[in-house]
Amino acid sequence: MRVFFIGFGQAGGKVVDMFIEQDKKSGMNSFRGIVVNTARTDLMGLKNIELKDRILIGQTVVKGHGVGTDNVTGARIAADEIDSIINSIDTRGTHDVDAFVIVAGLGGGTGSGGSPVLARHLKRIYREPVYVLGLLPAPEEGRLYTYNAARSLSTLVNEADNVFVFDNSAWKNEGESVKTAYSRLNDEIVRRFGVLFRAGEVSKAGVGEMVVDSSEIINTLRGGGISSVGYAVTEVVSDRTKQKRGFFGGLKESFSKKEKAEEVLMGEDKSAKVIALVRRAMLGRLTLPCDYSTAERALVLVAGNPNEMDRKGVEKAKSWVEENIAGVEVRGGDYPVDSNYIAAVVVLATIGEAPRVRELFEIAKETKEDVIRSKEKRASMFDDQDIDPLFE
Ligand code: GDP
Repeated sequence: MRVFFIGFGQAGGKVVDMFIEQDKKSGMNSFRGIVVNTARTDLMGLKNIELKDRILIGQTVVKGHGVGTDNVTGARIAADEIDSIINSIDTRGTHDVDAFVIVAGLGGGTGSGGSPVLARHLKRIYREPVYVLGLLPAPEEGRLYTYNAARSLSTLVNEADNVFVFDNSAWKNEGESVKTAYSRLNDEIVRRFGVLFRAGEVSKAGVGEMVVDSSEIINTLRGGGISSVGYAVTEVVSDRTKQKRGFFGGLKESFSKKEKAEEVLMGEDKSAKVIALVRRAMLGRLTLPCDYSTAERALVLVAGNPNEMDRKGVEKAKSWVEENIAGVEVRGGDYPVDSNYIAAVVVLATIGEAPRVRELFEIAKETKEDVIRSKEKRASMFDDQDIDPLFE
């Protein structure tokens, strides 16, 4: 899939910068991207996005200092300057793009407020689908972040074609602060979504037996709402690697030669490996922990060493996923990559139940009520005064 990324705000910019870095390293050139921000320093810190593709907005309002955590201002600035954002996207070229993906931290200001505005305009102008990869704040970041994220997410589900959710709190380790966890979290994000968004592009290892093309991904996501992604990876020990492992490796090799001969005979083994990997992807940690049995559709993608791919395995894994989700539409296939690993990605699309999202909305509702109550309190204290103001 050829993806046009727009990184909105600080978190979005960092993640898109990493997607572009990963794409350059792979030599596949399936991604392109720009970043948009109200804070000049955030734009300066990036490494892989060309300078001309770093768009500073809101200069007359916030003078390059960012909007703080005020996502209403973030949305207003994005709406006021939507023409210059769209212009930059157009200049970068969109004729061969399969989808737009906006990436943003939903708890902040610029990306949280700006991404729903951009999604609406992109959808009006282009025929290609517009997806959002939204990062949820951890509860420890405070109620304002939670409130922002709830407002942004509930707007996004109406504006975007689908919202992939990544929950920061589900991914940070016990005791680790969200800030120190960022680079690790971003690695996890880019690894998973990199495999998914590049599916169908021709790699050095050739074309797969059951190719997943961009239309399969688009059809999986067409129900809208929010989606969660699972991932699992396993190493494939090649002959070359075994030689590199030296004496003890050599000893092991004399055993594994026999094993290898058996493996060739037992196609069942390969297939079992693929099924186990897909199960691990779906039952392990998802980008947004959720009740997978409420997913409307799913996509199963197995990427990696072509010798380890197994058509029957992918088919069986798809059936297993189908038995476990609400809907019956499970698409999928393989994607050979010249690598010592094989990875499985499972997209659980249009999910109906995720505890963290429910909690987010509950806290946001309470926060809104508290804000109204405290406003009323403030007003009543002055209403009771019987003192005339200096002037009306
Ligand atoms: P903005 O620049 O105003 O759009 O605000 P940010 O992008 O900084 O968004 C703040 C939210 O994004 C908070 O909930 C942070 O936890 C989260 N965030 C900030 N930076 C990162 C990052 O590098 N990775 C991840 N996963 N989350 C981040």
